[in-house]
Amino acid sequence: MPSILERYEQKFRGSRRAYQRADGLIPGGGHQSRVVKPFPLFVQEGNGSTKRDVDGNELIDYMMGFGSLMLGHAHPEITKAVANRMSQGTHMGTTSELEIEWAQLVKDLIPSAERVRFTGSGTESTLLAIRLARGFTGKKKLVKFREHFHGWHDYVSMESGINTQVGIPQETMSTVIVLEPDLDALRDLFERDDDIAVVIMEPTGGHWGQFPLANPGFLEGVRELTSQHGVIMIMDEVICGFRISRGGAQGRFGIMPDMTTMAKIVAGGLPGGAVAGRADILEQLGDSGVSRLAHPGTFNANPISATAGITMLTKIANEPINDRADEMAIRLKVGLRDALNRMEMTGQVHGLSSVVHVALGVDEEDEEISTVSHERLATATAADRSGKLKLAMLNEGVDMMGGIGFMISAVHSEDDIDRTTEAFERALAALRDENVV
Ligand code: PMP
Repeated sequence: MPSILERYEQKFRGSRRAYQRADGLIPGGGHQSRVVKPFPLFVQEGNGSTKRDVDGNELIDYMMGFGSLMLGHAHPEITKAVANRMSQGTHMGTTSELEIEWAQLVKDLIPSAERVRFTGSGTESTLLAIRLARGFTGKKKLVKFREHFHGWHDYVSMESGINTQVGIPQETMSTVIVLEPDLDALRDLFERDDDIAVVIMEPTGGHWGQFPLANPGFLEGVRELTSQHGVIMIMDEVICGFRISRGGAQGRFGIMPDMTTMAKIVAGGLPGGAVAGRADILEQLGDSGVSRLAHPGTFNANPISATAGITMLTKIANEPINDRADEMAIRLKVGLRDALNRMEMTGQVHGLSSVVHVALGVDEEDEEISTVSHERLATATAADRSGKLKLAMLNEGVDMMGGIGFMISAVHSEDDIDRTTEAFERALAALRDENVV
């Protein structure tokens, strides 16, 4: 019986060849977060819930553009709208009415959005929101939480799962405070230090909920403490926005942050992002009053991303897109748990809405918000284990998100889900044969 690695090498030979071409040309052989060991997949095309790699293997896709593709690959309405727009020109070097329509949709959907500004990506969104918070408060320091990911710029890279701070000046890092998601720690800090401008967080916990905010009342507590101390609260909804509910995590939990950062779904799966929030904070970008804060950007609110975003958000606003994805996620959770039971293996399957996480070897039951300690979840999903699960699932025709979970779209079918749970059972058997679990 060939090993997981041997099967991977065998099945994805074309990707190995492509990787050899990339090596020596692209440092690391490809984009950091797409790299899979021993070599990454090279994929040609996607359609709905599936994609086809250079070897012609069809894979059920749960990367879904790192969570961007709520309507799957090449959705006919988005494809048509974007193609149409392409033929009318891609950049006018001016603003366009598309930008207004797009901003209005964001405002209608995201409860705390009084003003909206578009960026080129999630990283740019968190950078802009942090600058706005510092500009508004006149204070310097930023609080983030351990393992919360907000992109790759200097202010958010510490303790974010990017395991190096090379190239980031100590002076910059000295303005960033990393805390455990713990209200007492936050209260203590606010009482000791009056130079805190902003707290940023993933509202479902680090890495799209891999490390949930299990402390009940945490979001409310952060809201209360930040308000009391005049600190700006940013919810980073790059993943959660339009997914955890139509109105994002804030819509689902009823907490109003001062600012919200978005990307991915907001731009219909194309490059783009947004910052939304309180008028008084965002009006620092306006030219009424004092225009204090600069924010240029060649491709901000470009007509192509705007068109994809408008198409996506219009559908989310008017159709049961979220309900459908959530329903498929529940089916997947049940199926994955059944597979674990049939294999007589322990493992927790948790996650909110259309996000599903797997932690092998953990036996807690909670279906949405795991209360297992950070350390146990970190061990259960460590690279040696999640890397093997990722390969074992690819061997069975399923591309998981990082070997730790699944992003479900509104176009995954019952059949996709059932085939995924069967694949999971076979992958578990392979992991057990190799004593990974
Ligand atoms: N914030 C969160 C919560 C994210 O998940 C990500 C990307 N996965 C980012 C920010 C950065 O977004 P981008 O990759 O578009 O720069």
